[in-house]
Amino acid sequence: MTIQPAPLNTPAGGAFWAGHWRSPAAVLEVHDPEDGRLVGVAGDCTAGDVDEAVSAVAKAVLDGPAWPVWQRREALHRAAAILREREADFAQLISQEGCKTIRGAAAEVRRAIETVRLSAEQADRLEGRTLPFGDTPRGENRLGWYTREPVGVVAAITPFNDPLNLVAHKVAPALVGGNGVVLKPAEQTPLISLAFIELLLEAGVPADRVAVLPGRGATVGAALVAHPRVDLVSFTGGYATGNAVAATAGAKKTVMELGGNGTVLVLPDADVRRAARAVVDGAFGNAGQNCLSVQRVFVAHELLDELIERVVHLTSELVVGSKADERTDVGPLIDVASAARVESWVDEAVEGGAAALTGAKRDGAYYWPTVLTSVPVGAQVLTEEVFGPLVSIEPFDSVDAVVTEVNDLEYGLQAGVFTRDLDSALDVAQRLRVGAVMINDTGDFRIDAMPFGGSKRSGVGREGVPFAVEAMTEPKIVAIHRTPRSV
Ligand code: NAD
Repeated sequence: MTIQPAPLNTPAGGAFWAGHWRSPAAVLEVHDPEDGRLVGVAGDCTAGDVDEAVSAVAKAVLDGPAWPVWQRREALHRAAAILREREADFAQLISQEGCKTIRGAAAEVRRAIETVRLSAEQADRLEGRTLPFGDTPRGENRLGWYTREPVGVVAAITPFNDPLNLVAHKVAPALVGGNGVVLKPAEQTPLISLAFIELLLEAGVPADRVAVLPGRGATVGAALVAHPRVDLVSFTGGYATGNAVAATAGAKKTVMELGGNGTVLVLPDADVRRAARAVVDGAFGNAGQNCLSVQRVFVAHELLDELIERVVHLTSELVVGSKADERTDVGPLIDVASAARVESWVDEAVEGGAAALTGAKRDGAYYWPTVLTSVPVGAQVLTEEVFGPLVSIEPFDSVDAVVTEVNDLEYGLQAGVFTRDLDSALDVAQRLRVGAVMINDTGDFRIDAMPFGGSKRSGVGREGVPFAVEAMTEPKIVAIHRTPRSV
């Protein structure tokens, strides 16, 4: 098998740490999920490599030259500008190594530019304030303040589904906060992070403050999380992996962005046409491989037939095909095993009495956008995160009952509610146990500056650029005990 050259001028090495590109002896082959073609190779790093990388970054942060805040801001603004210039190349690489259509990949690059730009802008918000020592007799003759200081070494672990923007969401806030960062990208999509780190170096990020170590979760990921010199683990991935990360991290600071099962409520007075369009966009973008993907729709009984008809019609119009084709709406899943898993879950639901209204068909890593209804209670397509192109639509009679049902689900990332009644919208928004509620939209919406995260199995803490910077910095107090003026 011949190795196709990557479309970007990606470095010869397959990893970067301690200021040098490396060529680890073992490699990860990166295959295009569409046809199995070899797209490129990255290093398959070891636990020993992790130790070297973390130690080098820790040394740079603790003993290396200071990296002034204004230089951080300028480097990140330059990085955003370079990314804008290379938007098309980056989009192509995202699409080739992962499962995004070329349109979806281009949209991701534009998001990543915003993420890096927003991070640069946080430089002038690394603020502290003076402290009210005079508020207590014990504080007399004291003057003090706090500043925001870097936590130190940030370990960033990322999933395959937004392989550039989710990397940017960790690396850029860590850097602007004055930290060093060691990145372990998903094993399926390491090439785009190698290209991104190369771009950051070109933009002026000090080479000893960043490292990227592609490799396996069980080796590189686990070694990174366990490393005693890592001060904060910023993890995005599945719930089961998040649990493993939490167990290994112990008392370390962690921020975890985990899965969801995207619920949407369509109340009796909703605009059904608008809801149907949004449900289809939210359920099938990136072939459903999105933590915010719409998975469960609860619709008022009287609107069930109309909503189903509209959703099925719009779904059947989606173009399933090659990622490189601008007309394609839905590409493959990340691998054949993932598509086969979705197929088996749909089969289980149908055997239990569910009706598959469209889709329910697989070819290799492709699974056709599927709409289910009458799904039996307890089916995995209801209780688990599907992470595939599948939505189920079920009727409800009472808003109170459906709010309780949604709150009983294991995940609580974001939700959507469609209604024309402001009071109902605000009431439901207040009662749902999720990180965000979008009114007259699905939960599949995010701007990169908003606090992002969920409750229950959906995560711990919040990301979103200003909130990530806050998590990656700590207040540090300096206080002066003055000599009282003698009278
Ligand atoms: P995953 O959990 O399989 O892997 C995520 C990362 O963790 C990968 O880099 C993997 O190598 C690493 N990893 C695996 N085992 C590890 C271990 N023991 N220690 C440390 N790291 C380890 O997730 P995935 O399949 O790549 O991505 C899909 C999941 O990510 C879905 O559940 C999705 O909802 C979630 N996700 C969440 C968000 C969010 O912001 N909430 C965003 C995107 C994806």
